[in-house]
Amino acid sequence: DQVRHLLPKDIQQQIATHPCYSKQAHQYARMHLPVAPACNIQCHYCNRKYDCSNESRPGVVSRLMDSDGALKQFRSIKRRAPNLTVVGIAGPGDALANSQATFATLKKIRMEDPQAQLCISTNGLMLEHYASELAAAGVHHLTVTINCIDPAIGEQIYPWVYYDHKRLRGRAAAERLIQNQLAGLEAAAAAGMLVKVNTVLIPGINDHHIEQVSQEVRRRGALMHNIMPLISAAEHGTFFGIRGQRGPSASELEAARAISSQYMPQMTHCQQCRADAVGTLGGGCGQSEEPVVEHSYK
Ligand code: SF4
Ligand code: SF4
Repeated sequence: DQVRHLLPKDIQQQIATHPCYSKQAHQYARMHLPVAPACNIQCHYCNRKYDCSNESRPGVVSRLMDSDGALKQFRSIKRRAPNLTVVGIAGPGDALANSQATFATLKKIRMEDPQAQLCISTNGLMLEHYASELAAAGVHHLTVTINCIDPAIGEQIYPWVYYDHKRLRGRAAAERLIQNQLAGLEAAAAAGMLVKVNTVLIPGINDHHIEQVSQEVRRRGALMHNIMPLISAAEHGTFFGIRGQRGPSASELEAARAISSQYMPQMTHCQQCRADAVGTLGGGCGQSEEPVVEHSYK
């Protein structure tokens, strides 16, 4: 396994049963608990009718749960799937923009099963703020989506960011987001979490910038890089108001990963799962069966 091969031995042991961090852990299952509906930023590639593209793909909208529903769902799946090792929160919005629900869920799962590996996915805007609380809650694996480190690129990807009771737009929004993402990544790594960085590869926007991203996130303590293709399905709407923003070709994706692999191990088996995915990665991404709270998006 290319990813494990390049990592130090103690870290290899820590990821040995996490199917996303280690390809060799494919027999283990993960489940996402969709307890986080809101988001504090807007990505041009996101259609909020669907799940967060941090960790998702277009499909049927996830049904939301509250923390009690999440616990009930966890118990029900765990009974039937003894190979379930990882419990994550990956949307459908941002885990840390829904901190109350996220921390309540983490607490309940940890009390129920101290062996469960807790995993979070975030856009990073609030990561520095919550890093030590996440570590104290037992989160050991964390993914932050960082698409660029240059605000001139960022302002083409993020139309706005809502931070500290203010809505920032344009360059100021991108500057704030990038600054918080990098500080958050550093804080999460310093708190002992195994941090993976996701980057959505967007041709013509950030494809020439992958090397800088990879170098910088490595320097800040990221363990692994997951370069994901932009999903340019029609139902995800327009990008910059332009219909037809394409996703990368297989060879463009491969080239970006080759550049990044000079600096960091690559995750190449990501399934871009839904926020309510359950199962092994090879088995495809299932979905939750017993939603407790249904939510309709406006
Ligand atoms: Fe959508 Fe995720 Fe971006 Fe928020 S962080 S706008 S949910 S893709
Ligand atoms: Fe793992 Fe990728 Fe699915 Fe997240 S989206 S659970 S990293 S395979």
